[in-house]
Amino acid sequence: MNFTTITNFIDKIGKIANLSEKELKILKTARREHTAELKVNENKYLAYRVQFNDARGPTKGGIRYHPEVDLDEVKALAFWMSLKTAVADVPYGGAKGGITVNPKELTIQELEELSRKWIRAFHEHIGPTKDIPAPDVYTTPQIMAWMMDEYEKIKGEKSPGVITGKPLELGGSLVRDIATALGGVYVLKEAVAKLGLTEKTVAIQGFGNAGMNAAKILSEEGYKIVAVSDSKGAIYNYEGLNLNEVIKVKQETKSVVNYSNAEKISNGDLLKLNVCVLVPSALANAITVENANDIKAKIILELANGPTTPEADEILHKNKVLVLPDILANSGGVTVSYFEWVQNNYGYYWDAQTVKDRLKEKLVKAFNSIWEKYSSNNYDFRINTYLLAIDRILKAEKLRGNLK
Ligand code: NAD
Repeated sequence: MNFTTITNFIDKIGKIANLSEKELKILKTARREHTAELKVNENKYLAYRVQFNDARGPTKGGIRYHPEVDLDEVKALAFWMSLKTAVADVPYGGAKGGITVNPKELTIQELEELSRKWIRAFHEHIGPTKDIPAPDVYTTPQIMAWMMDEYEKIKGEKSPGVITGKPLELGGSLVRDIATALGGVYVLKEAVAKLGLTEKTVAIQGFGNAGMNAAKILSEEGYKIVAVSDSKGAIYNYEGLNLNEVIKVKQETKSVVNYSNAEKISNGDLLKLNVCVLVPSALANAITVENANDIKAKIILELANGPTTPEADEILHKNKVLVLPDILANSGGVTVSYFEWVQNNYGYYWDAQTVKDRLKEKLVKAFNSIWEKYSSNNYDFRINTYLLAIDRILKAEKLRGNLK
């Protein structure tokens, strides 16, 4: 994922929506890019916070710890967050942060020190009404807790709304742990109803937080999970997998491939199975020109970020495969993060069912707004999702007087 790929796509949308140069410029320009060098035990790490677009509210987005994180990637992800918050219609802009580090090489003390130093470097730029970070790749509720604590020490007051994805004991929200998968299932069920599909077979690529929870929820909803995969390989049984057994095997042996009551297939073959729903929940660029024509699923639910390349998208649209794009399909995570912030600001906490009902309301509404556009033109569902997000951002920019 790089910034140029995203801006190229925005140029494409610009032509469709007839956007002016000024509108394109405001969409493609990051408001603020902050960088710092953090020192822990003689080692230096580059750290970032990019606040991309704040027209619709305080900026929001996770902090990624990864050896390959750089400013270009953080900018691209911050831009994506601006679109995602607009699609879900939560009153936020978009941001992202990161540290170029392999956290697996740090001791727990070093991890805590690095996380606290990230806050010391950027505390002036964040805050509950400015910019609200959250977890992302390799950052955890514990890291959010250290970060909140450091921020509160600097400010001299309690401020749980400064960061989301916290442990429940420190103001986290119920349902946050399964929110991405649950939101995806709400969106999928709307799409299945619109298309009038009755077949219920599902293949899931990736069996981590997003993929495993999606498998659990879909199976409770009566779907038949016939294949799942992880980095070691895939398993397939047309009669359906015994999910509790698969989860047990994954926990005990670290991989789903050791589950015995299924055929072992390659990760590539899982994508081409004859199923109704395919759920990419692992990596970017899983579906490309190389395999798009072989996809037999009727719906692709993108729980992963960026699993389909733009070229593959065109093939899938031609083949009448409905792709529910990442910025809608996995926006349940940021939506429940928003609920966490609301609960922190009020100091009043909701039960799990209330969180689920409100998540469903938000995502069903988002899906239907896009479906309405999609039914009235010939563009694919992703383009229509971007059209909705960009329209919402530009309306806010206009109302602020930024587009005279
Ligand atoms: P995770 O690390 O918990 O799980 C990733 C899974 O993918 C693991 O089971 C891993 O073994 C598997 N995997 C890795 N390489 C694979 C390959 N080549 N083939 C098949 N499986 C492979 O991560 P996660 O939190 O579940 O996130 C998965 C995706 O969803 C990412 O793209 C992430 O950006 C996106 N996402 C997650 C959340 C969330 O709340 N967890 C929110 C938004 C987006």
